Amino acid sequence: MKRGRKEIRKKGAVECSFCGYVAADASFNFCPVCGFNLSEYEGDEGVYSIERIRYLWERRNGGKLVYDNFRSVRDSGVYPHIKSKPIRPQLGDFGHVHLSNLMFFAPLHYSPKLASELYLISKLEGYYNVESGLRALKWGSLISAAQKGGMFWRFFESRKIKETFTEGWRSCGGGILSITKVDKRKKGVFFELRESDVSMLPATKKPACVMDGGVLAGSVEALFDGFWDCDEVACARDGKPACVFRVYRHETEDKPSFYMPKEEEVQRILDSIFDDVTSRRRLRKVVDDYVYLMVPQCDNYFWLSSSPGHTILSKHLGAVCGRQIAEKAGVKGVDLALDYIKDLFLFLKAGVITDIKKPDSERILIHMDESVYAAGVADINMKLCVFLAGIIEGILNAAGGNYEVTEKNCLAKGDEDCVFIAKKRKIVR
Ligand SMILES: [Zn+2]
Ligand SMILES: [Zn+2]
Ligand SMILES: [Zn+2]
Repeated sequence: MKRGRKEIRKKGAVECSFCGYVAADASFNFCPVCGFNLSEYEGDEGVYSIERIRYLWERRNGGKLVYDNFRSVRDSGVYPHIKSKPIRPQLGDFGHVHLSNLMFFAPLHYSPKLASELYLISKLEGYYNVESGLRALKWGSLISAAQKGGMFWRFFESRKIKETFTEGWRSCGGGILSITKVDKRKKGVFFELRESDVSMLPATKKPACVMDGGVLAGSVEALFDGFWDCDEVACARDGKPACVFRVYRHETEDKPSFYMPKEEEVQRILDSIFDDVTSRRRLRKVVDDYVYLMVPQCDNYFWLSSSPGHTILSKHLGAVCGRQIAEKAGVKGVDLALDYIKDLFLFLKAGVITDIKKPDSERILIHMDESVYAAGVADINMKLCVFLAGIIEGILNAAGGNYEVTEKNCLAKGDEDCVFIAKKRKIVR
């Protein structure tokens, strides 16, 4: 992927866009706290820091990339209407909400500032999902007629459109969505969402269902020109009957402001997810606890492709999650841990562990098929299952092992299956 860019020399203090550390001197190229690249670049889309999701760039070029290479993205507009062969014959084409929620809240625990990055990722997801749906439903002419007339409200008042939105969210496992109000004057559309993927988690001080808001904003933006963003007016996690989102139009690309949950709030949410994972409790009453593969696959791909630092962080966060899950479940001993991982991955629909080999006392090779992140992905020369490698490492080590786990082969690298290798760490004295 070629991205035209020119580095800019900065003056004065520089703030790390990742962890928020302020370096007094602009000569810092890397953040001394988290190691992220602090350089800023000037490209086609204006000035950006290399670690930020270049939203506009991704919206234009990334869409084609994921559409061409991810079957789940191509199918996302089609599968509610046409029965096609599943991407994963054994596990089916849905992953557990716990896995998506861990991927979202674990980074927030590291740095609440990442909320805006995660919002952009979900916005892209909403954008591509609708784009792919439009192609499948051949609605191009309908949309361009509505766009030309500039009458977005008529569009959202149509019963067919309302039903399509509701059905799209239901079939993806996103919850029960309805369009409740269209504000012509202020160019806003109101959505109500019940039983969302995060609706059963502990409340935060202010509404913070950032991912669902992002998907909605992206979906509307794919239909109409201009920039659309979203704020959450009420949240089901506060005991309200539903989350209420307002998606509104504005003229320039600006960043919506979110409530950034505090560290202890995020920890409470993560603890509740770990409890639910270990007790295997069903969360939602009406909607299943599973979301369509496109969601975890896009979340994961956009995260990992942002920068090498994101890959390192993903592995680390996976290990933190794995450790806490194993401690809560009381897993002891490496062999039991391997059994536990196998069961856990089936429950989360993360993948099917088909074979575990111990070529010698130093190494364990774990073969996995039907990866939640890489199934149905063409050879894009990436190893996409680093978060799962982290979970494996965390569980093995909490159970008494001392391993470093990496993904050696991946479906998304053109390999036959995903292979994790756990190597005993050597302490050099
Ligand atoms: Zn930093
Ligand atoms: Zn909410
Ligand atoms: Zn993989």
